[in-house]
Amino acid sequence: MGNPRRLLFRIGALTGAALIVAGVALRLLSSRRVVTAEDLRVNRLTVAATIYPLYDIAREVAGQYAEVRLIVPPGASPHFFETTPRRLRELQNVKLVFAVGHGLDNWATEITGTAAVAQLFVVDRGIALRRMQDGTVDPHYWLHYGNARRIAENMANALSAADDVHASEYRAQAVAYGERLAEQEAHMRQRLAPVRGVPFLTFHDAWFYFAQDLGLSPAGTFESAAQGEPTPRHLAALQERIVTERIRVIFIEPQMSSSSLKSFAHDNGIGIAELDPLGGTEGPG
Ligand SMILES: [Zn+2]
Repeated sequence: MGNPRRLLFRIGALTGAALIVAGVALRLLSSRRVVTAEDLRVNRLTVAATIYPLYDIAREVAGQYAEVRLIVPPGASPHFFETTPRRLRELQNVKLVFAVGHGLDNWATEITGTAAVAQLFVVDRGIALRRMQDGTVDPHYWLHYGNARRIAENMANALSAADDVHASEYRAQAVAYGERLAEQEAHMRQRLAPVRGVPFLTFHDAWFYFAQDLGLSPAGTFESAAQGEPTPRHLAALQERIVTERIRVIFIEPQMSSSSLKSFAHDNGIGIAELDPLGGTEGPG
């Protein structure tokens, strides 16, 4: 069996070696598991969203695992947005651009084409889109709770594909966000119940999905179709509708200039209120 002293020494040496091996293994493990703030900053996936509502949803789904940038600044309209070389430079490290599509933010294809680093991802999968009389699609589909939940799921899938290490986190965050939306939806339904069926006018044709979702009754828009200045004929028809349907209010939007609308509302004795289809500014969320 040999010298008991030598045996003890050998056990000690083995234990020491085992401890060193264990220490190295532990350090390796911990360096893989513990994500430092610096790791997150350097390695984090960076994506962008064209408009504030998509940016808002993307941030909920991305959480701490991906950085989300906003392209159209709050207060501006995506209908009249133009990309600049400076904006393109700001988007250089972006891997994915979330877009609404269907004519609302077509300029995003310019970003993904020119920057050549980002991939465009239209978030409409699984959403029942409204087809207009002229065959185009109404792009304002984010203004609907069920659709917003779908958008969150679609984003979770896209983020997971771009960063599969955090796939389960993205999916879990989309589910949690969907649950919070459902709570808010129930609350909104209750609050809007007294005005169900009450006709109202809006500035442009942005509120179909919202009205459909919550049982509201938009009765016309100040703008003519295709975002044009209202023609005299259009305004005459609107005037008639105000009388026959007893319309009492028109909603303006903070992104749209509305001086001509104000005199129209005044001349026809209807009130003006504000509805914001994009958000991102001070005031109601
Ligand atoms: Zn619009």
